[in-house]
Amino acid sequence: MREFSISTNVFFGENALDRLKQIEDKRVLIVCDDFMRSSGMVAKITEKLKGCKVSVFSEVMPDPTIEIIAAGILALKASNAQVIIALGGGSSIDAAKAIREFSMQEADGKSDVEECFAIPTTSGTGSEVTQFSVITNAQDGLKYAISNRSLLPMVAILDPELVISAPKAITADTGMDVLTHAIEAYVSKDASDFSDALAEKAITLVFKFLPEAYADGENRLAREKMHNASCMAGMAFNSAGLGITHSLAHAIGGKLHISHGKSNAMILPLVVQYNADIKKDDYRAGYEVTAKKYQRLAKILDLHALTVNIGVNSLVNAIVKLQGELKIPATLKELGVEASEVLKIKEEIIDAAMNDICTEKNPRAASRQDLSSLLERLIGIK
Ligand code: NAD
Repeated sequence: MREFSISTNVFFGENALDRLKQIEDKRVLIVCDDFMRSSGMVAKITEKLKGCKVSVFSEVMPDPTIEIIAAGILALKASNAQVIIALGGGSSIDAAKAIREFSMQEADGKSDVEECFAIPTTSGTGSEVTQFSVITNAQDGLKYAISNRSLLPMVAILDPELVISAPKAITADTGMDVLTHAIEAYVSKDASDFSDALAEKAITLVFKFLPEAYADGENRLAREKMHNASCMAGMAFNSAGLGITHSLAHAIGGKLHISHGKSNAMILPLVVQYNADIKKDDYRAGYEVTAKKYQRLAKILDLHALTVNIGVNSLVNAIVKLQGELKIPATLKELGVEASEVLKIKEEIIDAAMNDICTEKNPRAASRQDLSSLLERLIGIK
């Protein structure tokens, strides 16, 4: 028996923020980063809250650390909040989720928090509908994904207005994160008809609307579609899980401080080739389910896909082309990271990737040697 569930209520489209008007006379804690406060986004939230006592914890940084979570727990205690509103990219939403979770654990499961809202301002992580939170241990440079149903936000608000200000680089990186979530969920060991449907839709939306949102950040339709795609990809991988693109991205992101979406974007085409495992000219080989699923995606995207081999190649080429359009480098070398710097910590990166929770759901069982070869290609030395 298997289960597919979506417990977060999703409000989307123009004026979705109006859902906040239903919060009245409560103690509210907004969890965000400093940009959200200085750019006036926090004010856009507070103006909707009627009769509420609002506190703001704006100390979140990209890839939030254990120390930031600890400071947030103190802020939650001080505010005695009944409602938590996470406002920002995946870092702020993950921080808010962890702050609530660890506060509850400290208080033996008791909590005054009645409702948790997640309001994404990037179209990327899907964290607003997932039971994951990614926290960084700054001392050893490791990113950990924690997972628990209690981390699921109760309400997600997808208001495209909040994404308009995202600059090109953030639009590109986070958009490629959406694509990676959807493609990894689609071929994951735990993929199902339900997660496939969400992943397929998210993938078609990304290929159509990410270049448009990148070219013109004010394009509201493109912003709205990318916001929806991000959430759908989140629902897909929350159910199906991810794969080794994410395991490597977490490991590299923790050690080298490269944005999560950019790491994913660079690794994804390498992993699609690796997972498809197509031997050159081996036309009679019994193609694995994964390669056939990549071919199906190529067909859905109207790419050449007459054979499995052609379909996989078309998909890889389409990802690489999109990456180029978004000015994302193909390798760490192109990004300006010295090969010697990565090689020094290669074993640590592979250890972290092998132990990452995403690795077990990858459709092809990856050995240390496999991850090592992928890393060498990513570095740009192979
Ligand atoms: P982020 O939250 O780290 O934000 C990156 C930068 O973008 C920040 O400086 C932020 O201030 C800025 N920003 C956000 N919204 C903006 C806007 N509208 N206009 C201008 N600037 C804006 O980036 P992210 O990619 O959304 O999140 C990445 C984090 O999420 C990583 O730690 C990653 O590991 C984690 N993650 C979590 C999940 C999950 O399911 N929980 C899934 C994928 C990734």
